[in-house]
Amino acid sequence: MDDVNRIEQAVVTGVAGFIGSHLAEALVEQGSQVLGIDRRHPSHDPIAAENLAGLLGHPRFTFINENLTELNLPSVAEGAGVVFHLAGVPGVRPSWGERFRDYLTSNVAVTQQVLEACIAVGVPRLVLASSSSVYGGNIDRASREEDLPVPLSPYGVTKLAAERLSLAYAIKPGTPTSVVALRYFTVYGPRQRPDMAIRRVLEAAITRRPMHLFGDGSQRRDFTYVDDAVAATIAAAFAPTRAEVVNVGGGRTFSMLHVLECAAEITGLDVPVVHEARQPGDVEATEADLTKARELLGYEPATPLVEGMSQQWKWLLSRPSHPVAALA
Ligand code: NAD
Repeated sequence: MDDVNRIEQAVVTGVAGFIGSHLAEALVEQGSQVLGIDRRHPSHDPIAAENLAGLLGHPRFTFINENLTELNLPSVAEGAGVVFHLAGVPGVRPSWGERFRDYLTSNVAVTQQVLEACIAVGVPRLVLASSSSVYGGNIDRASREEDLPVPLSPYGVTKLAAERLSLAYAIKPGTPTSVVALRYFTVYGPRQRPDMAIRRVLEAAITRRPMHLFGDGSQRRDFTYVDDAVAATIAAAFAPTRAEVVNVGGGRTFSMLHVLECAAEITGLDVPVVHEARQPGDVEATEADLTKARELLGYEPATPLVEGMSQQWKWLLSRPSHPVAALA
């Protein structure tokens, strides 16, 4: 990264999460000062501990362990060139029912507070984590940003609300903060969330405990390797725009059956599977049209699925806690 495109000071919300921790690592590596916020604390939460291991103690990294609803956000955002707002409650299936309240608070209300804070202290750019889930999934071609969003899950509805909220703030006359909302398509790689499909497939290979496959495996996903998602996210800090939504995908779609075949090839192990009914809110297919990402972010996904899954597999095997006994 050249000096013109250097971020001196950045805020990353959701930094103890999967994508947020990778993003923060890339930013400190590039010389940025990063203030990371998350409500999960490494001493109480082993996933947060694993995600933050490469960051805690780094001289350019500061961790604030707080719920964003409780934080004095303007004082945290003061002086930042970019706020990367990745905090949120992810996952389609748990968004039905009781937990919706947390989705609404953390994905929508918190986004409004982050926007107000950015504006109050004049942060020039907010990059927001949106999702392919805003589209709905009955597609016969790659989804374009201007397509009518028809989210099929409460989660998708909250991500769309946050996205539209951010754009409304960004185009409000006099607003100092411009916004790029990134619609991530199924991000995977080392430290992927335990509830996500590729992680569950690879763990089934290790543990020999069956992976629960929802549906017949014909559902297709556009899988994005985490380093590619991070590259797009950092590029979004510099995109010359006031208010934009941009797809971030892996450039191809694959069925879950193909993912299972790849896993068997990479691991050399059987992947036990039990079939379960398709879950409400799960879409048939996702596919990103990357035209705008290429034009606006100079984005090009660089990691083929087999390579990315191999990296994730190596990471799983390298973990001290991996159940190596199951391999014996
Ligand atoms: P993650 O759950 O690993 O990380 C999210 C982090 O946000 C967690 O550490 C959580 O503690 C934190 N958080 C949530 N609410 C908070 C609050 N109120 N205050 C402080 N911290 C809070 O999820 P991820 O997979 O890294 O996803 C990051 C973002 O990207 C999310 O907004 C998600 O909706 C979006 N996204 C992810 C994917 C994907 O494939 N992983 C796809 C589309 C969109």
